[in-house]
Amino acid sequence: MWLTNVRLFDGTGRVWPTAAVCIQGERIQGVYEKAPEHLPPEEAVLDLAGRTVIPGLINCHTHLCLDGSPDPAGAWERQTITKNVLVAAKHAERTLRAGITTVRDLGGMEYVDIALRDAVNEGLILGPRMKVSGKVICMTGGHGWGPGGREADGPDEVRKAAREQLKAGADIIKIMATGGVMTFGVEPGSQQLNEDEMRAAVEEARKAGKLTASHAQGAAGIKAVVRAGIDSIEHGFYLDDEAIELMLERGTYFVPTLAALYHILEAGTAAGIPAFMVEKSLRARDAQLASFQRAYKAGVPIAAGNDGGTPFNTADNLPSELARLVENGMTPAEALLAATRVASQLLRMEDEIGTIEAGKRADLVVLDGDPLSDIRNVRKVQLVLKDGKIVHDQRGKELEQ
Ligand SMILES: [Zn+2]
Repeated sequence: MWLTNVRLFDGTGRVWPTAAVCIQGERIQGVYEKAPEHLPPEEAVLDLAGRTVIPGLINCHTHLCLDGSPDPAGAWERQTITKNVLVAAKHAERTLRAGITTVRDLGGMEYVDIALRDAVNEGLILGPRMKVSGKVICMTGGHGWGPGGREADGPDEVRKAAREQLKAGADIIKIMATGGVMTFGVEPGSQQLNEDEMRAAVEEARKAGKLTASHAQGAAGIKAVVRAGIDSIEHGFYLDDEAIELMLERGTYFVPTLAALYHILEAGTAAGIPAFMVEKSLRARDAQLASFQRAYKAGVPIAAGNDGGTPFNTADNLPSELARLVENGMTPAEALLAATRVASQLLRMEDEIGTIEAGKRADLVVLDGDPLSDIRNVRKVQLVLKDGKIVHDQRGKELEQ
């Protein structure tokens, strides 16, 4: 199959004013300035009339099991697992249709995320390729406790908790270094798991060749978990210079998730968001934006994730995160890279996805508008291909309506 007459942002840093992409089966066969004049009649040719093509987007921080309602964690308390499966499947499909072909899912309910990943891989349901964490590991009463958490205290118990997630099929071990916004009664700034506990979890993931990620908001917790060898810092509200130095030294990724607080504060208590969440978000917002700018200027690798599933911010809303990254200093091209090539490196999948190059998986998004002139155009999704298959086709639909 050929996609011809496209403007191409290929994710390597190159923008092709006109290009043609050749897809063979699940993979990209090659990128050319134009298609050959005489193609065999059996080749499908989609003339895209100058539309922009970008690599399939990667959302590095989602919770497909959270429903984006005003109180998503509260919704879990009232929900059966069976209902949650349906919620998660719906969000998986919406996310894929928004051009997000891969997600890193950092915390589901009762291993629904793991089942969802397998169902997508088996072709049972439509959804993005998923890397999942299973239950998040937190201290007793710590951020994330409840149906999505595994409380553990002491290095031995944390080690066992990590092994349990690996046994259940997790690709990533996620630990809670500090308090957070969505759990009542915990402080985002305070450290929770101890460094020796964090080390135990990271060690178990490493042995199994798996990835690690840490919810980490306060500076002490951030530094402890970076020293423990974590692959990525999530949220990072209170990054100080020492934390940034450590992250640069260790090659730790930063996933700022700016959209989460943005949407909590935009909707507020009037929309039904619990007052404690709004109050904590308000206190953390300025620090979070300052931390992002400091890390960005220092050159910490930044990957995009919107913390999909938080209030009024489901996983398909990654474009909001890209808009926030641009509002706070990134260029549109840098924001796109944070959701493509840099994200693929964080997932250690850079040989498979993240750019449009020969040999990579054919994950492509066709946009009706140029995201480099206005990042909001990433919402104008016309066509989505995953593994060379058209999974969403919006072309001509506006005319029909
Ligand atoms: Zn999260």
